[in-house]
Amino acid sequence: MTKAHIIGSNDIFEVRKIFCIGRNYAEHAKEMKADIPEAPVFFLKPPTAIIGEGGVIRIPSISKELHHEVEMTVLLGRGGKDISCGNALNIVAGYGIGLDMTLRDVQSEAKKKGLPWTLAKGFDTSAPLSAFVPADQITDPHNLDLKLDVNGVTRQKSNTKNFIFKIDELIAYISQFFTFERGDIIFTGTPEGVAPAASGDRLEAQLSSPEHTVLVSLKVSVQ
Ligand code: MG
Repeated sequence: MTKAHIIGSNDIFEVRKIFCIGRNYAEHAKEMKADIPEAPVFFLKPPTAIIGEGGVIRIPSISKELHHEVEMTVLLGRGGKDISCGNALNIVAGYGIGLDMTLRDVQSEAKKKGLPWTLAKGFDTSAPLSAFVPADQITDPHNLDLKLDVNGVTRQKSNTKNFIFKIDELIAYISQFFTFERGDIIFTGTPEGVAPAASGDRLEAQLSSPEHTVLVSLKVSVQ
């Protein structure tokens, strides 16, 4: 069973569904040569894809091109269906940082053939995930810095104010079609700067306040 943890709390969250938002930053849509979506685009990863602090990403032999996508993550403390934008942030238990590791060559092939992204996005170790900062300690989840360093060099850097769809809009939209449960997680999409990660690379992701205080970080490596 995969668990999610809130910093400073003994509450345990058994991870259920993992929703990942595609194209939620305009600059990333541009680098992927994709249109800005009119409604949120999302896919699922299984909870078995999660690894935690100090974990190791293993590249399946089917792929020659693993990419990193750093993303702010949202842990839901309560479930629900048809949640309104006005109520959406009330079900959030915490905010964290994660990596949507992607087999870009497998995904490109799937896109070309109109096939699902499940293998490209949901393989074992494809969801490195930090602990979560309690939601009540975050004044504005739409003004947080996120950053990814690879071997000490910054590769991705943005702020959640650049989201195309805000967290309340994502929760309201998805909950029309999927019943949320306690322990569901949302990966909120990646900013620009996605690039290959190779064997031996050390990845460090951080979520910070606007005053540059690190709220939570995550270190993993690629085998
Ligand atoms: Mg992503």
